[in-house]
Amino acid sequence: MALIECPSCNKRISSKATECQHCGSQLSGDNQVLSKISHIKRSAQLVNQGLLSMSLFIAGVVVWFWGGEPAEGLRSYIGGACFVLGFVGYLVTRLQIVLHERKKV
Ligand SMILES: [Zn+2]
Repeated sequence: MALIECPSCNKRISSKATECQHCGSQLSGDNQVLSKISHIKRSAQLVNQGLLSMSLFIAGVVVWFWGGEPAEGLRSYIGGACFVLGFVGYLVTRLQIVLHERKKV
């Protein structure tokens, strides 16, 4: 059970209470709902970011090894750039997801 502050009197009350036990004001619970929604939205955003990085990584590998031979010249730069960006992007996203999940709603 978490404690939140009453929006009217700022005294600590249970997050599950429907009305403040100090001043009797009704609590809508909107604040919690909003913070939950934004938490879920951020999670979805991070998952998309991870998929995008993964696609970039795979695209880099495909460009690099297209035709069964290691790339040369411009193709190797493009493939290498996608590969590295995708890989780093994926690692960063994983880290962001871990940090995000640690946050309690
Ligand atoms: Zn109150």
